[in-house]
Amino acid sequence: MKSYFSVLFTGAWSLIAGLKVTIKALFSPIVTVQYPREKLVITPNYRGHIDLIKFEDTGSHKCITCGSCQRECPSDCIVVEGEKREGVKGKVLTVFTLDFTKCSLCGACVEVCPTDALDYSNEYELAGATREEFHYDILKRLEERK
Ligand code: SF4
Ligand code: SF4
Repeated sequence: MKSYFSVLFTGAWSLIAGLKVTIKALFSPIVTVQYPREKLVITPNYRGHIDLIKFEDTGSHKCITCGSCQRECPSDCIVVEGEKREGVKGKVLTVFTLDFTKCSLCGACVEVCPTDALDYSNEYELAGATREEFHYDILKRLEERK
């Protein structure tokens, strides 16, 4: 008889302990979001793939097509091309592509840029079915950005 009540008491006690956790969680602030309908604000320290910065004063980038980022990249994933145009000092950027499948996000390209033209994007929705989907036209991305 004594063991019957002991089992009953242990069961009731564990039920109360479990309910305590549930009730506490019920009144705690919600930490999950209803992704993809709801999205988090990404921390400024987040490193997505690189992007050309759009400067407000010119409405464009400040890449001078020096090629330093391409040369410094240890993974050989940047291609930069430019051309001379009449009446324009220096080269005009015509191609800036990134093969993100090889990028280690080391940051060498961002660090080496003499005009601070590059930064990390806050892109995190990067799922894809093929490798080619991770070959980014960085110049086109800049032009499409508002
Ligand atoms: S972050 Fe590093 S690996 Fe990625 S593109 Fe820049 S230099 Fe290359
Ligand atoms: S290092 Fe900077 S300025 Fe030079 S090509 Fe790369 S992005 Fe352009």
